[in-house]
Amino acid sequence: MKCKDCQFCKYEGAGIAGGYKCKHPNIEESAKKYEQLKRKVINKDYPHIGYQMIKTSLRYCPYRIDREESL
Ligand code: SF4
Repeated sequence: MKCKDCQFCKYEGAGIAGGYKCKHPNIEESAKKYEQLKRKVINKDYPHIGYQMIKTSLRYCPYRIDREESL
């Protein structure tokens, strides 16, 4: 899944508070799982995708995390 094709990707706000956001209901949970699985810390607001559209999806996208967990 790519953010640009995803129903949960929405542009919100303006200026510094604006940008593309992931509105997936499990984005927070998924980000936390990613942090545990990879022992990494995400230094930004979890739903924030970017000020510009990205080519793929968030590293902790729920679609990716679900796939990794089922491996
Ligand atoms: S991170 Fe995943 S769920 Fe969120 S908008 Fe992007 S593709 Fe959709």
